[in-house]
Amino acid sequence: MKFLFSLLLLLALPVTCHAGAPSSVDVPILMYHKVCKDPAQIGKFAITPSELARDLAFLAESAYTPVVMADLIAFVLDGTPLPERPVVLTFDDGFFSDHRYLLPLVLEHQVPVVSSIIGQVTDAYTSEGRTDILYPHVTWPQVAEMAASGLIEIQNHSYDLHCTRHGAKGAEQRTRECDTAYANRLQADLSLLQTRIQEQIGTAPTTFTYPFGAKSACSDQVLQSLGFSASLATEARVNTLTIGAPDCLFSLGRMIRPHGRDAETILGRLEASHRTVGCFRPHTTAQSSHGFRLQCPVATYRPAL
Ligand SMILES: [Zn+2]
Repeated sequence: MKFLFSLLLLLALPVTCHAGAPSSVDVPILMYHKVCKDPAQIGKFAITPSELARDLAFLAESAYTPVVMADLIAFVLDGTPLPERPVVLTFDDGFFSDHRYLLPLVLEHQVPVVSSIIGQVTDAYTSEGRTDILYPHVTWPQVAEMAASGLIEIQNHSYDLHCTRHGAKGAEQRTRECDTAYANRLQADLSLLQTRIQEQIGTAPTTFTYPFGAKSACSDQVLQSLGFSASLATEARVNTLTIGAPDCLFSLGRMIRPHGRDAETILGRLEASHRTVGCFRPHTTAQSSHGFRLQCPVATYRPAL
């Protein structure tokens, strides 16, 4: 299946060949939210467990290689090579479905993913022990279990900014809020969740996932000053990552994966629409003289969790 998929791409598309490690790679990031069986909730922000299972089975067998933020950061900051056709699967909001459905499936298919949790609701669900209502979230023991799997990378989706009740949408700067006050407010909220996650799983997140994708002109600059290496936004685009250019890790674009449009379809359309195809446009100074892409090292690749 993997071979057939690769062969079809090679035959159908004008492949540009590259020798040596690319200095720049294009990386698509898919954005998921809830996974549930309730027909009333299925839609843009919720898919069924069978849809998720189909996506992960496809990605495990296709020429794409799921990676996590640690891999993107290691590539940009240290030059650690990425596998060919890297793709990141991100799950926002820390829904209970991350534990109920995602964890067993990533273990079954050995596909690494990213889960961005909200601190305030994680605290609330941990103390209340609720798992049976319509809008459930994970608890801290479940977060720890997910992280211990070695396949779910936990990231920061704010402690309590996933709302509009603080005078701004998500992590946006308030109207007439000076840059210093904004930086202090972000630091107070984000650092609280960094500390909570560090306490629970032993490592602090590297990446901030913007609630609602809402941000302001200096948001990424504040994140960098707080020690974050990357941020995830919601603009639908493929990201070009370049070794030695840390700014390219911020406000990364993502493609939402809604009900009814699977990962294979989304990635296939991106491939078809891209100007040069092979590895989502790797860039290197050393070009091979022949016209075929070297074999992907997906079978031996391990995520940098
Ligand atoms: Zn969210």
